[in-house]
Amino acid sequence: MKKINNHLLVQNSLAQDYLIAGVFEEIDDEFKDLLKTAKLTPKPLLVCSGGTSSRCTAPGHWTLDLRKNYQRIDFDQSNKTVEIEGGITMTSLLKELSKYGRTFPIGMSGLPGLGYILTGGISPLSRSYGLAVDQILEIKGVWGTGECFKISKPTSKSNFEDHLLWRGLCGAAPFLGIVTNLTLRTQPLTTIKVLQTTIKKDQLTEAIQQAQDWPDSISLQWIWGDFIKLYVVFANGFSDQNNTLEKLEKDFSRNKLLQVSEVLGQQDLPAFTLENSNKKDQSKLHNEVVGLLGPSWDKNCSQLIDSLESLISIRPNKNCFIASQQLGGASSQISRSSTSFVHRQAIWKPWINASWQAGNQKDREKSLAWLIKAWRTLEPHCPGVHLAQMHQHLPWHLQETQKAYEEWLPGLQSLKSRYDPQGILPRL
Ligand SMILES: Cc1cc2nc3c(=O)[nH]c(=O)nc-3n(C[C@H](O)[C@H](O)[C@H](O)COP(=O)(O)OP(=O)(O)OC[C@H]3O[C@@H](n4cnc5c(N)ncnc54)[C@H](O)[C@@H]3O)c2cc1C
Repeated sequence: MKKINNHLLVQNSLAQDYLIAGVFEEIDDEFKDLLKTAKLTPKPLLVCSGGTSSRCTAPGHWTLDLRKNYQRIDFDQSNKTVEIEGGITMTSLLKELSKYGRTFPIGMSGLPGLGYILTGGISPLSRSYGLAVDQILEIKGVWGTGECFKISKPTSKSNFEDHLLWRGLCGAAPFLGIVTNLTLRTQPLTTIKVLQTTIKKDQLTEAIQQAQDWPDSISLQWIWGDFIKLYVVFANGFSDQNNTLEKLEKDFSRNKLLQVSEVLGQQDLPAFTLENSNKKDQSKLHNEVVGLLGPSWDKNCSQLIDSLESLISIRPNKNCFIASQQLGGASSQISRSSTSFVHRQAIWKPWINASWQAGNQKDREKSLAWLIKAWRTLEPHCPGVHLAQMHQHLPWHLQETQKAYEEWLPGLQSLKSRYDPQGILPRL
């Protein structure tokens, strides 16, 4: 079934403002036939799960919106796994799991849907539990060819093709197929502590260097716009973190807005934003985001922070910012070749957010140019890309896919030529 729409109401305001061809809401036989016969025009088809990225719609293109008809969540008490459908947001997943005393490592916001899991999924708990993609046990969906699939996590007895397909789907599914169901491992729901404060530039350098020696149950996040906000998450149930918390409280005892809170599960964590930094500016914003990945920043950390300070000082719009998450620990224990998330040794994931006033073309160009400048500055320290947001509509798409998948890209392209030969789904 398809209905003609002009706009799709989604979280991402840029995606929402595009004039689109229309929306599919059901993967029925008619829809699968459209894929099989490649009669859908224009290609590619976009898919909307949480609708938080700028690429869940595209001007003049069709979107498959999973939010209305793919809302099932089934928790299995016997093995503590959960099966979710394609329109589930991370907030609704956590809400359902909390009824059973279980949880899942979601990211810094509960708004994203399956896109978060399928593109890797970096959580403040990833150092303890691994990436979101590492929790997947079974995937169901439809290839770009219109054929249905159901694939379980391969074992040592699985054949080469099963390993290849699993690798492709875990981290690059949006290029190959439409994922309708995921079965996921869950974790016990425990309390989490979070320390938040605003800090000075030199304190950020110091915190980054210290964080590289923290136990895996602690992760550092920061966000830098009008000011720098530090956000340290302590996964509970691990006894090795008291000293770190005490030291941080002491180090930041004179800082503004130092706050330590304890919550039950990620759903109750305070928001990770630079809230109130720009209260007066209520105009509608559009934005694009690039996520990078790289190893520890021991050498030249303070030089890099100096460069970031000058980038922040010249950002063309007050809502542009640079932020970062910490990886390592359990996320680095998985082999590089078992999923499409190849940057297993990455410790830092900085991301650059370019914002501009909706509809202001000049402002857009300046913000995107600033994003590129910030990327070039960070690149020597973070050469990889986390393809959490796709940008087929921007000039750096080929470069970012190369940096996201590196030596695995030809393998992915070969899978695409077999499972989406007509280019129904976004290009690699
Ligand atoms: C506030 C906020 C905080 C974030 N924090 C984090 C974080 O901490 N860690 C992290 O890793 N990422 C984070 N992200 C990035 C986010 O996880 C990715 O952008 C993700 O792709 C968005 O998921 P979505 O379901 O909203 O995707 P959508 O915008 O709905 O879709 C994104 C892309 O994925 C494809 N897609 C979506 N669902 C499917 C499906 N079922 N089958 C096939 N393709 C599909 C679509 O074609 C589309 O191109 C954050 C994003 C936001 C907005």
